[in-house]
Amino acid sequence: MMFGARKNMWADFHIHTYWSRDSMSSPRDVLKMAYKKGLRVIAITDHNEIGGALETAKEARLLGIDIEVIIGEEIKTSRGDIIGLFLTEKIRKGLSPEETIDLIKEQGGIVVVPHPFDRKGRGALGEYTVKIAHRIDFIEVENGRTPSYNNKKAKIFSEKHGILGIGGSDAHWFREVGKVKTKVRKIENGKIEPEEIKRENWPPIIMGILYSSISKAYNIFTRRRSRALS
Ligand SMILES: [Zn+2]
Repeated sequence: MMFGARKNMWADFHIHTYWSRDSMSSPRDVLKMAYKKGLRVIAITDHNEIGGALETAKEARLLGIDIEVIIGEEIKTSRGDIIGLFLTEKIRKGLSPEETIDLIKEQGGIVVVPHPFDRKGRGALGEYTVKIAHRIDFIEVENGRTPSYNNKKAKIFSEKHGILGIGGSDAHWFREVGKVKTKVRKIENGKIEPEEIKRENWPPIIMGILYSSISKAYNIFTRRRSRALS
């Protein structure tokens, strides 16, 4: 997929839509909020899905909104979550981190480890991150739903291993979009040059978690689940 070169702008590299079971955000609401927050680039990273990203990219074109949408996926591996950005095809969940990275790279994508040291149950790779450090393109050093002490651990890790850090809101509720944003010097097909990361305090983490729980219940109740039941 073509991705035009962009310079000096704000990006949010971690956003979910209703293609994730624990979100009800429509691509349109995500785009509107991104626009309001002054973002020029957003990565849609649904759980084990790229359908939401494709739908959001299409919606942006339909609405004529000047926001570039990166096709991403937050893939559940056997050890924890890995994000692939600039994908063209969905990658299946449950593979090892190494196999997942191979598949991301085969597509010309880039590898991001999201919230590596987050609390239990959040899909953090934890200490396994060391084993794949040489193949990681970016570490998510600021995640909007991760407490600051866990983000700090990720930052220390990224510095120790010389891996660049980026930030993402991990928005499951559209109001969280842009809560964490990364200023990038330049972004071009498969290449990101991050410069600065900013985090806002609103909405608080607890509101996002509450929203996700309600979404999950609602989506199960209405059998919406993820839209592509492959
Ligand atoms: Zn996420």
